[in-house]
Amino acid sequence: MDYSKYETVIGLEVHAQLQTNSKLFSGDANRFGGQPNTQINPITLAHPGTLPKINKKAIEYAIKMGLACHCTIETLNCFARKNYFYPDLPKGYQISQHTTPICIGGYVSVFIAGTEKKIHLNRIHIEEDAGKSIHDAVDGFTCIDYNRAGTPLIEIVTEPCIQSAEEAFQYLTEIRKLVRWIDICDGNMEEGSLRCDANISIRLKGTTELGTKVEVKNLNSIRNVKKAIEFEVERMIRLVEKGETIVQQTRSFDAANDTTFAIREKEEANDYRYFPDPDLVPFFINPSSIEAIRKTMPALPNALKEKLQQEYGLSDYDAHQLCEDKYTAAYFEATASYNRNFKAIANWLLGPLKQYLNEQGQDFNQQPLLPITLAGIIQLVDEGKINFSTAANKLLPVLINTNAHPAATAESMNLIQVSDQNAVADWVQHVIKSMPEKVTEYKKGKKGLIGLFVGEVKKLSKGKADPKTTTTLLEKFLNEK
Ligand code: ADP
Ligand code: MG
Repeated sequence: MDYSKYETVIGLEVHAQLQTNSKLFSGDANRFGGQPNTQINPITLAHPGTLPKINKKAIEYAIKMGLACHCTIETLNCFARKNYFYPDLPKGYQISQHTTPICIGGYVSVFIAGTEKKIHLNRIHIEEDAGKSIHDAVDGFTCIDYNRAGTPLIEIVTEPCIQSAEEAFQYLTEIRKLVRWIDICDGNMEEGSLRCDANISIRLKGTTELGTKVEVKNLNSIRNVKKAIEFEVERMIRLVEKGETIVQQTRSFDAANDTTFAIREKEEANDYRYFPDPDLVPFFINPSSIEAIRKTMPALPNALKEKLQQEYGLSDYDAHQLCEDKYTAAYFEATASYNRNFKAIANWLLGPLKQYLNEQGQDFNQQPLLPITLAGIIQLVDEGKINFSTAANKLLPVLINTNAHPAATAESMNLIQVSDQNAVADWVQHVIKSMPEKVTEYKKGKKGLIGLFVGEVKKLSKGKADPKTTTTLLEKFLNEK
């Protein structure tokens, strides 16, 4: 089949639950995982006579995301009712920003093989989440949990400008990083805090008209979004090549076998009878409060990445890795204020420290090692007082829990390397005497054996002989006779 004739067009709709204390229009708790139907109050259920009230934090969070995505922030905002019946929708309507999204335009940068691509956004709007229908709790019944109802959401909608499953993957990775970075959403796709619907179509290369799209729902991981797109594109191309037409459908992803299946043929644009919510007056966001919010925001990942490269001379790769989350990046900068071996700090953060925390199942942002302690460990290695692997394997596990003085601890653990010429010379002489055949081979020109001798001295000294001194002395003695 000739896939190269076609190009893929994707638009993503991402819902992010905002981690405010309370709901979008009422004071009940906004928390995942409570006992069913315990986090609901009459406003969430829209009992007669109740009045919704806008959660200011939710507005602030939406503005933050808009600023992080270079959007224009709309100062005049309205909420509308989107009317439909569904058991998990206690009001009989969802309150959403229909024609007046709070953020317009903007973009999110992704890097595909090192080249920047801007994924353009259509809008970001605020709306409330619905409750949850639970089909597998009681045999023969569907249960309803309204705890989630009224949770504040932002919906981030891209233009149909994503051109591959890989771009979609990178875009979602970036969105998840951003919402965590600015602390508005925990980004957890398995718990549904971040949800994605993928709109996918194909068209012949060189054409500009959009093809008929299919919307895939229930994608609960970034990897699954990628797999769903790959499957859909292949399915659609096969259909078209067979001379069939693609019908507009809503499909669901089946994670058991990485396929999708139709759940409904797309009804013509639903008539939701939108109208402005009469209980919520339009509200105006003062441009000065937008600026005030901008000032509270941390440097964004891409800006910080550039700073790490320019100010600290880190490679593109290291800078990118350190900016995976803001805790690692901040930790790097804190450590760099105590030790100027920036490359070593990056190596330690991305190497031994990360590995140790992974093994212990500890979160980076909750680990106890102080930046100043790490800076001290690096200094010991740089001064040749302890070798890198001893520092990583023996000293780090102790210091991470005590933050004791690195040099004193290394001393008391008997880890300090001996660079005293006489002591090392003793070990070196011993090794040379115990391996006469290897020494002869070395003298005949097999210089690579130096590594073997260094290793033997290391063993003999239980890792305490400073490798630099060892090498110098070995070369001296081996070459002098
Ligand atoms: P709907 O009203 O069906 O939800 P929208 O026009 O609001 O459709 O678009 C929803 C998402 O689908 C957006 O991200 C948009 O970029 C994307 N989209 C729209 N048409 C197409 C298409 N033909 N192919 C791929 N994506 C599309
Ligand atoms: Mg849609």
